[in-house]
Amino acid sequence: MKDTKFLEYRRLLVGAEKEARERLAHERPGINIQTHGDAIDNLIEALDREQSITTSMRASEVLRDIRAAFARMEDGTFGECVRCGEAISQKRLLALPWTPNCIRCQERIDEQRQDNDSLEAA
Ligand SMILES: [Zn+2]
Repeated sequence: MKDTKFLEYRRLLVGAEKEARERLAHERPGINIQTHGDAIDNLIEALDREQSITTSMRASEVLRDIRAAFARMEDGTFGECVRCGEAISQKRLLALPWTPNCIRCQERIDEQRQDNDSLEAA
């Protein structure tokens, strides 16, 4: 990849990886199951726990994407969409340097995801 922003993407990825790790480390204690107090307290705790789990799942997803992005930097395919092989725009990479997909493929993925969501809800 001949993108002049390569070093900047790398710097962004290093920062994002650190942040995702910190978020995971911070969220873990929230997953401990504690049952005490009344029903409302338990409910609030359950919701908090769910929130923590969602947050750490997201952080681990991002972390996985970040590691994959580092691997693509190693093999020289960073900045190419893993689905269609088109170049991912600089703007998109600066916002989401770990993204494996170009905007068009991402839109398709999001559409499919929404379809799945509405099927599950029905
Ligand atoms: Zn694509």
